[in-house]
Amino acid sequence: MLRSGSLHFKRFTFTFLVASRRNYSSMIRLAEKSKTQSFTKAFPPDERVPEPSIAWDETKWDLTHKPRQLKSGAFSWVLPEKRDQYKLLTVSRPALNDLGLPDSEEHDNEFFRIVSGQAYNDNPTAQEREYPTPYSQCYAGWQFGSFAGQLGDGRVVNLFEIDNHDNTSKYEIQLKGSGKTPFSRFADGKAVVRSSVREYVISESLHALGIPTTRALAIVTLPHTWAQRYAAENCAITTRFAPSWIRIGTFDLYRWRGDRKGMRTLSDFVISDVFGGKEAVLNNFNNQEPEFAKIVKEEWDEEKFGEFSIYDLMYLEIVVRNAKTVSQWQAYGFLNGVLNTDNTSVLGLSIDFGPFAIMDKFDPDFTSNSEDHTLRYSHRNTPGAVFWSLTRLGEDMAELIGAGPTILSDPHFTEEGIKKEWENQIVTRATAVIELAAILFEHIVTKEYGQLLMKRLGLSSYEEADEQLLLDPLRDMLQKTKLDYNNFFVQLQEAYLKEIDNEGIRSLAESITKSNEDNIVEELEKWLQIYVERLNKHGYEDVDLERRNISSKVNPLFLPRNWIFDEVIQKLADDPSDNRYLKKLEKMAFNPFDPLRWGHDLKDTEAKWLSTSDQVSMLQCSCSS
Ligand code: AMP
Ligand code: MG
Repeated sequence: MLRSGSLHFKRFTFTFLVASRRNYSSMIRLAEKSKTQSFTKAFPPDERVPEPSIAWDETKWDLTHKPRQLKSGAFSWVLPEKRDQYKLLTVSRPALNDLGLPDSEEHDNEFFRIVSGQAYNDNPTAQEREYPTPYSQCYAGWQFGSFAGQLGDGRVVNLFEIDNHDNTSKYEIQLKGSGKTPFSRFADGKAVVRSSVREYVISESLHALGIPTTRALAIVTLPHTWAQRYAAENCAITTRFAPSWIRIGTFDLYRWRGDRKGMRTLSDFVISDVFGGKEAVLNNFNNQEPEFAKIVKEEWDEEKFGEFSIYDLMYLEIVVRNAKTVSQWQAYGFLNGVLNTDNTSVLGLSIDFGPFAIMDKFDPDFTSNSEDHTLRYSHRNTPGAVFWSLTRLGEDMAELIGAGPTILSDPHFTEEGIKKEWENQIVTRATAVIELAAILFEHIVTKEYGQLLMKRLGLSSYEEADEQLLLDPLRDMLQKTKLDYNNFFVQLQEAYLKEIDNEGIRSLAESITKSNEDNIVEELEKWLQIYVERLNKHGYEDVDLERRNISSKVNPLFLPRNWIFDEVIQKLADDPSDNRYLKKLEKMAFNPFDPLRWGHDLKDTEAKWLSTSDQVSMLQCSCSS
């Protein structure tokens, strides 16, 4: 096994400024859905909890709930902790739809017992009902640039997988905030209402924007359970779901343990179970856009390194998926705040929402994490931070991506390990795969981020020259004028530009900036001139109609900002039985392109949430959740 340190990759630091009708008759309640568990079938359990029945044995409670290091195994069987009282706060309608569950689940007692974890503590127990036994995954991770050793689901239990609404994929359902596990380290296994509401809303909101993300189904509050954070805060359990919860940190675990067989089992599982098989991985690689193929042809020395192996392609798929997600984050100003390897999904999903934010004003140095003093996870550094993690994954998989097809098929490699004479070759080849990945990552992020920004401006085409001519000046202007980042695109979308002259541009700049300061107005005026010129070059027949057709599909009219979360969370703290503000936020955040679905209530609040205010913008959060 090549241990950390045996490979020295240059540190890659990129600095980018960078309903359908539902078929109710076929819907099955969560209680009755067929429930599977693939992860626990594919991987060995914690050797101290070898059987699910141990988790149900009250005399073994400490073994499954006290923090400890696992000697082996990928997970530990563990039940949610019993709490005094549970209350269903909210259920996501879009999530119910996508899981093929009926809306009536909100009033279904067994649904409530599952998403609160009670089904695992009270009669009739989940065991009697033959639900699979919950388990927590073990992983490791690099946090803020240092290796942190064993991590894992410290306050999460995975329940089971169910098929989605049209049986095209399965989702693994888990409870977050359900109590301690062997991976809780020094923490309490709890999640507070504040962070649960934040996570629930942002997951469903990113999904509504079309950004790959883990999802949230429901929040159950625990009126008698408290946790010490900023103060004593009330706790909650969030039901989350995703096709897979495997992260780069899962790979980090096997490198740390020096478990080369485990690394291969994990990689094989990701290929077969998460990515849908070797053929799907190969097809995805071959179906990338022509420029991607061109880069691969130019950069990959096939004569020297041979053809790609399935592990090379799997690694590159993880890189591509993450690159695509990052480009969307950048275009919408979303920041995760803690992009450690344990928070980087192999599916490229946005995952583990703590001190995230949607940037109110364009500032490349903005970090949403108040503890991120080096700006490691700032807007500017986000693509670099994700690739930094992907480089760690390349190192984790160094043997597999270094070996290439010939060595991979050698029984000695599989059974015994690396022959001395293979070492150089493996290191050189693994480095070449990671270097190729770096070039592809940068290409995808630059291009897809650029394309999406252009769409937000109502332009369907994107040329390399647009970066310098239009997009750099755009970012520069937004930073200087301090306009609201998202609302700017919406305002521009609504403006009349047909046959606009210099005077018209001046008054548009005045109305968008609402500023008396000449230099601010001039900044926008200058940029609008460039923009109008670019529109003319594009040659629209009906410029405003065509622009709007493109941009309205990608410009949300509403995004949940941190100050709005604060307001909703405060309302819930003031009166936990009143979830009207949360429901209002859901309507707006889950239907960001469609104000007709925002409801007739709380119209003043709606107007306020659409407005901007300097006093509350660019709020940061701490990691405390
Ligand atoms: P995060 O930064 O939220 O991704 O968490 C990093 C690690 O700490 C993960 O292994 C989490 O499961 C764990 N963790 C975070 N908060 C808690 C908590 N309150 N109780 C137990 N484990 C936690
Ligand atoms: Mg995490």
